[in-house]
Amino acid sequence: MATPKRRISHARTHNRKAKFLASLTAPEVTTCPRCGESVQTHRACSACGYYRGRQVLKVAEEE
Ligand SMILES: [Zn+2]
Repeated sequence: MATPKRRISHARTHNRKAKFLASLTAPEVTTCPRCGESVQTHRACSACGYYRGRQVLKVAEEE
């Protein structure tokens, strides 16, 4: 079995953990210009199915 030659210092472990945890941020969220629902950026709105001013998804509930 391969074993590590040296122990990893606290600083190295914590630097790696800090970088990993910093990458776990919530996705960017904006509001839909059509219905005002909160939507992820660069995604079609799940409430009205619109993206960049036109309908791209079929949504059962249409006003
Ligand atoms: Zn919408």
